[in-house]
Amino acid sequence: MLDLDYKVLKVLHRSNAMKVGEIARKLGIPHSTVGSSIKRLEDGGNVIYERYRPVFLSNKGKELAIELVRHARLLEILLINEFNMNPKVAHSECEKFNLLFSCDVINKICEKYGHPIECPCGDTILNSVKCYCKKE
Ligand SMILES: [Zn+2]
Ligand SMILES: [Zn+2]
Repeated sequence: MLDLDYKVLKVLHRSNAMKVGEIARKLGIPHSTVGSSIKRLEDGGNVIYERYRPVFLSNKGKELAIELVRHARLLEILLINEFNMNPKVAHSECEKFNLLFSCDVINKICEKYGHPIECPCGDTILNSVKCYCKKE
């Protein structure tokens, strides 16, 4: 999956449904580029799309988006705690990461910091079906 596809997934995760043109404007990239990303996401079963209609995340796509956000926000918390990074900077820095680490590593971070439910900026951290840790 390309970086762009992850970006599109995250944009769709924040809204309920969006037209291809709206996604293109939001990300500041050409309509055709978003179109091919949507095609890849559709082939992977991550979005539901009919021409000229808004694009929706499928359940699989929703799970993947939750996992993406979970990975990014827990890495953000690691950077803030271990390197005293400014939360805003750490937040945007971690937006660049797409499932860089395994879920095992991410869940270790979650455990270490007491299973945070949001990052300092207020973004919610959820468990996904594939990436979760149990509070003991
Ligand atoms: Zn946890
Ligand atoms: Zn944040």
